[in-house]
Amino acid sequence: MSTVNLSTITKRFGNVTAVKGLDLVIEEGEFFTFLGPSGCGKTTTLRMIAGFYYPSSGKVKFNERDMTTVPPEKRNTGMVFQNYALFPHMTVFENVAFGLNVRKINKANTKKRVEDVLNKVRLDQYITRQVSQLSGGQQQRVALARALVIEPDILLLDEPLSNLDARLRDEMRTEILRLQREYGITTIYVTHDQVEALTMSDRIAVFNYGECQQIGTPTDIYNKPVNDFVAEFIGETNLSPIIFEEKALGDDLVFHSNLLESSIHVNHSELNIAAYDGSDELVMSIRPEAIHIDGNQTTGKNNVFTGEVSLVQFTGASVHTFIKLNDNFTIKATDLNRGPSTYFKEGTEVSVHMPEDQIRVIPKA
Ligand code: ADP
Ligand code: MG
Repeated sequence: MSTVNLSTITKRFGNVTAVKGLDLVIEEGEFFTFLGPSGCGKTTTLRMIAGFYYPSSGKVKFNERDMTTVPPEKRNTGMVFQNYALFPHMTVFENVAFGLNVRKINKANTKKRVEDVLNKVRLDQYITRQVSQLSGGQQQRVALARALVIEPDILLLDEPLSNLDARLRDEMRTEILRLQREYGITTIYVTHDQVEALTMSDRIAVFNYGECQQIGTPTDIYNKPVNDFVAEFIGETNLSPIIFEEKALGDDLVFHSNLLESSIHVNHSELNIAAYDGSDELVMSIRPEAIHIDGNQTTGKNNVFTGEVSLVQFTGASVHTFIKLNDNFTIKATDLNRGPSTYFKEGTEVSVHMPEDQIRVIPKA
């Protein structure tokens, strides 16, 4: 097991800067995820940890050891690639044994280790099968076994589930997490899928354009996004630019939203307008599940708007209701499915309440 320490690493390809001055410490035994849209530098960062690329500048350390320019075969990392990179005409055994043969492990020992790991990934029935005769999910397990059999200090997974269908992906998430916990291995997982990141990770680093936007636990990232990019990329949210207006009674701060054509009261413990120097543009973010819809006009509360239900989307477990507040702003509210009598009809006039403590004021990225 190992910690991974990246200090100010940058990677350039010609005039493209794929990773820009990234600082990151990954703890021993942690399940750590790089999350971000395609092209944001996730794979490049993972490859610098594996040693397939060397950084243009900055340092990579495992524990206290400088690994920046150590070749991949001397790093003891196990990697699973998006396309698995298996040898299709070799058997499951031969694929998994490959890394042990390279390391000159003797036959008896190799056999035992391959059998043990195939047992762990539940593929012991398939040991003599040709890889090309396996399903996608089974090939994924072979790739995992091949990475784990060398007993790596660090497991690196690059979008390992993106070629699987939805149900299998769900199953493999649990499977990978089970293996990671069993081996207690430091794991770095790359994905563009926010659900994978939220459900699997101890901590997440959110990337955009080669830069890390935020590092935190899944609940921190979801509940306290640092800017509008993170708020919108992880989960769903309603965003509107706002301008600070004044301090009101109590701890309320009052902003103005041009989109909503109204004042907005905000009150949550971390909002510190004293530290705001006026240089960033601000936006408000409120999650769909934080919005209350009421059939009747609610009075005596701040942040109450009336609008017309423009669309109702039924997903099974939950219901999304879109309410048009004016020509420029339609807001999305999500509620658990509490039965047909609770769905709003399209065209109904409703009032929408945004609780003060559910609105986050954040800078534009
Ligand atoms: P991600 O894995 O997040 O989709 P990548 O790390 O693959 O992103 O790519 C980041 C950026 O670096 C992209 O603009 C990509 O085109 C560029 N890039 C990645 N690898 C190379 C390479 N070998 N040569 C040139 N450009 C590359
Ligand atoms: Mg990639």
